[in-house]
Amino acid sequence: MIYDPYNRPIYYLRISVTDRCNLKCLYCRPERIKKLPHAEILRYEEIIHIVRIAVSMGFYKFRLTGGEPLIRNNIKLLIERISKIGGIKDLSITTNGTLLAEMAKDLYDAGLRRINISLDTLNPEKYRYITGVDAFLRVWNGIKTALEVGFSPVRINVVLLKGFNDDEILDLAKLIFDYPIHIRFIEYMPISPQTLDHSKHFLPVDIVKEKLAKLGKINEISPSPSDGPAKRYKITGCLGEIGLISAMSNPFCHSCNRIRLTSDGKIRPCLFSQRQWDIKVPLRSGASSEFIKSIIREAIAHKPRGHNYIKIPNRLPMSRIGG
Ligand code: SAM
Repeated sequence: MIYDPYNRPIYYLRISVTDRCNLKCLYCRPERIKKLPHAEILRYEEIIHIVRIAVSMGFYKFRLTGGEPLIRNNIKLLIERISKIGGIKDLSITTNGTLLAEMAKDLYDAGLRRINISLDTLNPEKYRYITGVDAFLRVWNGIKTALEVGFSPVRINVVLLKGFNDDEILDLAKLIFDYPIHIRFIEYMPISPQTLDHSKHFLPVDIVKEKLAKLGKINEISPSPSDGPAKRYKITGCLGEIGLISAMSNPFCHSCNRIRLTSDGKIRPCLFSQRQWDIKVPLRSGASSEFIKSIIREAIAHKPRGHNYIKIPNRLPMSRIGG
């Protein structure tokens, strides 16, 4: 296992497989960012090679994200190959779910068992407004198909946006009484200044907790070592659970265990990093696995103690860094 300078074990790699997305969420705006040329994007063999190297360094948790990972050609093949690598204990994907209804079975057959689906509203009109695409029903069908196919857990990521979905918190939370899903409310982070005004639309997750009390007795689920940063809750009689991610109001940097690989082959030790370490160029020039490892170690050695998102706002949205 590899530790950073603040003694945090680092074993989780988030891999962005593409910078492209088929949505234009107001808080991400991928369409405003120049797309990377295809030749700059890591090929599947390169991603698999990096995953193998990471596993040999002690990484065992991997998530595929993007951009939208399901629009990358033949993503099933990548999942199939990664899921066969020994030593991986946890492989998951984050998707907007627009293509999930038709792909869920293939992804499951390829070895994927956990899935996070982003859905900020249950109102089709609002969905179109936030994402720029009329696809609410497609996503909803994708969620139902994922449950039918056997994914567990199926998580729904909801970014809390004041003025957009604060009136739907209870309706979204109530889904856990009808479905065995995990609803995660995530605080809106000021990642890119070119998106929805953070000062106007930020909402702390505490608001969710206050509202949840209306649904019954809330029981906190004691954290397990495999948990991410979410505080997890059950409500008497529910099939699923609620998770609250307080990235802004109560940052969890002290327990951060992840680094990121961007779709163009850069290692970022923190979402808010200003520095990133290129491994694509050395990889393509035939560098040894030991050399690639040394770059990953160097990036980890520079993982900041915490993020300073206010002083150094990132100019790239999540779609480009990898959500
Ligand atoms: N396309 C996939 C999806 O929609 O899930 C994966 C990439 S997306 C960037 C990953 C997650 O990041 C989504 O749940 C999205 O809502 C979230 N996200 C994007 N920008 C964000 C921000 N500024 N603050 C909080 N979450 C954000």
